[in-house]
Amino acid sequence: MTENPIEAAADEAVTLTSELIRIDTTNTGDPDTVVGERAAAEYVAEKLTEVGYEISYVESGGTNRHNVVARLPGADPSRGALLVHGHLDVVPADPAEWSVHPFSGAVQDGYVWGRGAVDMKDMVGMTLALARHYKREGIVPPRDMIFAFLADEEAGGKYGAQWLVSNRPELFEGATEAISEVGGFSITLKDDVRAYLVETAQRGIRWMTLRVRGTAGHGSMIHRDNAVTKLSEAVAKLGNHRFPLVVSDSVREFLDGVTEITGWEFPEDDLEGSVAKLGNISRMIGATLRDTANPTMLTAGYKANVIPSVAEASVDCRILPGRLEAFDRELDELLGPDVEREWMELPPVETTFDGALVDAMSAAVTAEDPGSRTLPYMLSAGTDAKAFQRLGIRNFGFAPLQLPADLDFSALFHGVDERVPVDALKFGTRVLDRFFRSA
Ligand SMILES: [Zn+2]
Repeated sequence: MTENPIEAAADEAVTLTSELIRIDTTNTGDPDTVVGERAAAEYVAEKLTEVGYEISYVESGGTNRHNVVARLPGADPSRGALLVHGHLDVVPADPAEWSVHPFSGAVQDGYVWGRGAVDMKDMVGMTLALARHYKREGIVPPRDMIFAFLADEEAGGKYGAQWLVSNRPELFEGATEAISEVGGFSITLKDDVRAYLVETAQRGIRWMTLRVRGTAGHGSMIHRDNAVTKLSEAVAKLGNHRFPLVVSDSVREFLDGVTEITGWEFPEDDLEGSVAKLGNISRMIGATLRDTANPTMLTAGYKANVIPSVAEASVDCRILPGRLEAFDRELDELLGPDVEREWMELPPVETTFDGALVDAMSAAVTAEDPGSRTLPYMLSAGTDAKAFQRLGIRNFGFAPLQLPADLDFSALFHGVDERVPVDALKFGTRVLDRFFRSA
């Protein structure tokens, strides 16, 4: 007897995830150090062409950064296409800290281990397995599907999604909705009752440089215009500042859903305290209740007895949807006119948790995990969705995984011993299959 084809695709998702992890696609943020992205893109390209896809293989403007895009025609070409995108790069990993080598892709103890196992070679493996399955079996989804495998997400997508959206938008022509990473995973709220968190919003990112100018001079003299002193004061003020509590729609809807399942209350006067009841996931949810501005780098001076004329600091700011103007006003007040500010900004992302696509996601999840439900949530960080939003595409984080109740999933992102349960990958492949066929 031959194996059920969807089970074969689920098995292949495990193999593909493991093999992708073995290709070291570390992205330090410095383009000169990127080594494996090309090999990963060529691997994906070969897996797609092998089963009959015509692919677009795109090097981002001669930068040695590689992307692969393929289309699968659907039954109704008049409908908007569904974009499924995943990034091939990963953040660095130090083998000395790990139980297994981070680029081994080891399949052991029920897990696939390695850098990228949850961010996001798991989703890439599941997507690739289903894309191959549909082509092999002649399965036609209800609408066109666009599969995109991208470079450089971990450094903001400048040479990946952002580059393609600016320079090759025709690759995504007709796409109205998209799914990708950091959503669709389960949290266990009470005995064997799981909620699957679909990402419907993201905070905006602003990587900001603060610059203060003063008068250069000798370190031994009385000196009233010291750039280092002035910058330190500004950085301390900003680092210690607490932005106001804001309960965005997606956060409210998430908390209300948890209350319905568990009976736990989340009163506004003790929101942060009550969110702690959520356990590990509270780190992520808690970070979506306020804007944050965390100083991360300091630069000034070159010798102990020389007062420099300029001092600089980097600040990682994350801004809730709808808060940008208020955030700027608060910064004006805190820092005053003498602190120059410069930044790179990626906007917030927000959509509603409703409509046919959301219904299809929820139905696919509950078909595989009866008694569970889906809830919207806001991601505290950012993904390539920020780029695709520029094309008017509606974005969701939906990379379904059914996780053990005691696994600290959010700690695995960019963490040591990153790994994904084999059963979760198989579950996710089955859920995605149902979703793709009904979306
Ligand atoms: Zn990622």
